[in-house]
This record gives sequence, C-alpha cells and structure tokens, in this order.
Amino acid sequence: MHFGDTIMQWSEQLAQFSEPHWAEKGQLTVTYLTEAHIATGRTLGALMREAGFDEVSTDAVGNIVGVYHGQSHSAPHLLTGSHYDTVRNGGKYDGRLGILVPIAAVRDLVQRKQRLPFGIEVIGFAEEEGQRYRATFLAASALTGAFDPAWLAQVDSDGVTMQQAMQHAGLPGTLEAIAALKRDPTKYLGFVEVHIEQGPVLCEGALPLGVVTSINAGIRATCKTIGMAAHAGTTPMLMRQDAMLAAAEISLMSEQRALADADSVATVGQFQVPGGSINVIPGECSFTLDMRAPTDQQRDALVSDILKQAQLIAERRQVKFEYTEVMRAAAAPSDLAWQQRWERAVAAVGLPVFKLNSGAGHDAMKLHTSMPQAMLFVRGGNRGISHNPLEIITAEDAELTVQAFIALLDDLVARPSEL
Ligand SMILES: [Zn+2]
Repeated sequence: MHFGDTIMQWSEQLAQFSEPHWAEKGQLTVTYLTEAHIATGRTLGALMREAGFDEVSTDAVGNIVGVYHGQSHSAPHLLTGSHYDTVRNGGKYDGRLGILVPIAAVRDLVQRKQRLPFGIEVIGFAEEEGQRYRATFLAASALTGAFDPAWLAQVDSDGVTMQQAMQHAGLPGTLEAIAALKRDPTKYLGFVEVHIEQGPVLCEGALPLGVVTSINAGIRATCKTIGMAAHAGTTPMLMRQDAMLAAAEISLMSEQRALADADSVATVGQFQVPGGSINVIPGECSFTLDMRAPTDQQRDALVSDILKQAQLIAERRQVKFEYTEVMRAAAAPSDLAWQQRWERAVAAVGLPVFKLNSGAGHDAMKLHTSMPQAMLFVRGGNRGISHNPLEIITAEDAELTVQAFIALLDDLVARPSEL
C-alpha cells in the first residue's frame, strides 16, 4: 500500500506548519501568506521536485505550480490541484489531499520513466478559505482572470494590506504580475480536483470514493423581522407583533421547503434578538439564510418560494420582513465527459460508481468558468466531519484515490479521440 502510506506521511509533513498561537495548542491554522503558509508552500515545492516534476515554481499569488511534461513540451496539460491554506483549527486533508494525490501519481510515472501524450500541471492553490482576507478563491481566480484588483488594498485584522503581505512574502504584489497568471484554456484538456467530501454521505454509505455531478449554486442573505417590543406580562398572546417568533417560523418554513426538494439545503446559521430582555416581547430579530441547490433553477425556485412564504408569515404576524442578498454563486455542473472519466476510473479500481453533488464550494467552481471540470470526492471518517481537527481519512482510501487518479490518466491515454 505504498501510495496510501506516502499520502498519510506527506499530510503529516505539511501539518507540522501552523500559526504560532494555534501551534501551541496543537491546532492547524494556515492562512494566506503567514510564515506557516509560506513554509507549507515551500514543502509542497520540495515534494514536487523530489517526485521528479520538470518545473516547479511559486507564482505571483503564492500558488505552487509543478509541471510534468508530456511526450512533447508543447502537448496540452491536464490541470489539477486544490488548496493548501486551512480554516482556523482545521483538518490536515481539506485541500491538501488534492495536491498530494497527483504528486504521488506523477512520482509513479517518473519511476516508471513514462511520459504521457499530455503534460500534467499540479497547482497547490494558495488561498481558498477566505480567512485572512475576504477574498475567497483568490488563487484560482488569478488563473481565470477574475482576480479582483480591489483585493490588493484589503487589510487583514492587523491592518496589513494584501499587497504588503505579498511583498513581505517575496511576491511582486502587482496587478500586472497577477494578470499574467491567467491560463489560456486552449492549452488545457480540462481541470480535475480531488477533495475530501466534507460531509457524511460517503462515510454513511461505506463508499471510499464518489464522483461529483455538480457543485451547488448558493445564495446567502441577511434578514430582519421588525415587530413591536412590548411588555411580556401585559400584552395578550393574540395582540403581539413578536419579531423573534416570525423569524423562527420563517426558519422552520425554510427547513420544510428545502426538504421538499432532492438535494436542496437551507440553513439559518445566525439568529439574534438585538438588545432583547427576558421580560420584553422581541421587537426585532436578525438572522441569516444560506440556501443551496444543485442547479441555478432549483436554487432560484427554492429562494423565491422561501421569500414568498416569509412575506406571508410576516403579514400574518404583523411584522416587517427585510431581506438583503449578500452572496450569489452559480452552480458548477461537472462536464459530462470528465465526470464519466472519473466514473470509469472508480470502476477500474474495483469500486462501485457512486455519484453525488457537492454542497461546499471548491476551486473547481472557479476553473469551471474557463475550462471543463469534474471532481472526485474521498470519504472522510468521523461521519465526514471537516473544518475541524477530527477530519480524517484512512491510508486505504488514500491508496484507492491515487489508484483512481492513475486510472483517470490511463483512461485519457486509452481514449485520445475523445479529447
Ligand atoms: Zn477545501
């Protein structure tokens, strides 16, 4: 089981770098361009060099890029990779697994002295989690030409601008250098990403691998209900304009509406009664709504139904309902041909082909705007918990993942006419 053990060992090697305050507690926190982040990137580069990549470099946003040429240097590249930053007190496999698996596959090609009809370009994306700066997916955005110039001036909680952080890390910190990272899609076959599932579906189904059919579309909103604060003792139940109860009813209605669909989800993650007191009927309640579905149409129907129902609830309870959309992301359905390549790769390693959609956002969502993409999910233990130190995979599953990645490469070689 040499691939599986290698992946587990490399994951530990990367996990030794954590930011000081967190490292003391034995926790893993690696946010954009901190010392721990730079050390993690340097280690990834070293792993790529040791594996035998032809070119290894750090680009202008801190991505670690390894290229293993095809039979000819001008052959198109298969693009793959994932992110190496983490959330605060995160897990060792979220993101990193999708960089380490293709490194192991390339190392295997090098050891067998094999060149493919296409090159393999592995990217360790420097940023995906949006922790230090509110610039989620900035690393993948640079590759698609969607890096927002305003991000450079953004400050972290210590007042350090992104540009200063880049320059401190030895990067140019200029828009010109970042613009040059944009990839020409005609030079790529497509983008594939391996990622830990971060949910319970594969674990509960006793399935090591799953093929992603779509990355969910999502809308996030901040909401408010405004009623009338009044005396909790003297106001009869039927004469109240209770803002909290209206928000609670809207929350429960959202749950029911999401349940009515296959694969829709709706979540109220924050819920507050500002300035509330034990003996006052809530005059105001603020809460959030996060609504996701596998397609844009399904998400739009979900959101529109929830909004209509929320209005009716507000009218019946004589409160005002305010809704402000703060985020909107389009669905990224997998490219069918690439999805089928993953399906054949999973079958080739002797596993059942199981398909699922991704509730979480991933780098592939950004690459989706410039080239065909499809993802492979790997089972997480502990019921798939992620963004948590309990995140875990087994060496057996890591072994199967590398084998499936190699099977995907074999499939591409075997069916060149399909490209
Ligand atoms: Zn991730």
